Amino acid sequence: MPFIDGKTMLNKAYEEGYGIGAFSAHNAETILAILEAAEEEKSPVMIQIGQKVIQTLGLKPMKDMIDSFSEQFTIPICIHLDHSREFEQTMHAIQLGFQSVMFDGSALSFEENTKITKQVAAVGKVLGIGTEGEIGKIGGTEDDITVDEKDALITTTQEGTDFMNATDVDYLALSIGTAHGIYKQTPNLRFDRIEEISNAIQRPLVLHGGSDVPDEQVKRAISLGISKINVDTELRQSYTKGIQKYFDDNEDDMVIANSLGAGKEEMKEKVKEKIGVFGSKGRSEDFNEYKKVVTL
Ligand SMILES: [Zn+2]
Repeated sequence: MPFIDGKTMLNKAYEEGYGIGAFSAHNAETILAILEAAEEEKSPVMIQIGQKVIQTLGLKPMKDMIDSFSEQFTIPICIHLDHSREFEQTMHAIQLGFQSVMFDGSALSFEENTKITKQVAAVGKVLGIGTEGEIGKIGGTEDDITVDEKDALITTTQEGTDFMNATDVDYLALSIGTAHGIYKQTPNLRFDRIEEISNAIQRPLVLHGGSDVPDEQVKRAISLGISKINVDTELRQSYTKGIQKYFDDNEDDMVIANSLGAGKEEMKEKVKEKIGVFGSKGRSEDFNEYKKVVTL
């Protein structure tokens, strides 16, 4: 199966009313956990490369590793750059062949965020790469960047509409009551706002901080227009739990492949569980018509 651009993948999910998991990968085993889970569930999948792993392993090595593994799989795959705060980095990712990039200008002024997101979206359109923008500040910590809870602002419908009209970005990340990282209390998503913004802009919406949001809330959000759900924290927890458990049971085994493999298996189960909640199980055939599409 070839790679599918993010716009094609998410527009399909948006039209059909299911969600695509955008799962964060951090090394070889976590890439495989995501791809194997999606393959077994026959689900289209997005693999996200975040800012932290770019610092530790690098953008190109991660992309090359996913490309190399992908040869074993038949499901539609989209490689996504998560939370880029630099125009240059988004262009570098596009140059390397990512099928989707996010420019996160939410820390900038509305004008500055709009200006750069519009440029990224314009390049994406020419090259057939999906682009994600963000409006409103999402709370919590991701990749060393912390947004205080009190500074996390729920995106207004006016902001969402103005931003979309000005940038023409393909999908939009909103601040609608989720946070990055671990929740101190159960989040309550703003369903009214999701519905209003989805009706106003008619494009796929993105839920960041998808870990530990109750399944029923996630399903309802998907029914109202959320098409991409970012999951990182819960996957990291399951991966490390698998490794920890392996060492608890096999104290003297120093074969690293064994412990990392145990982490991979634990994470794979979590990815499958999420695919079940998002409703993308069995949807890989939705993309058969794109089999001949060759992306750059
Ligand atoms: Zn995020």
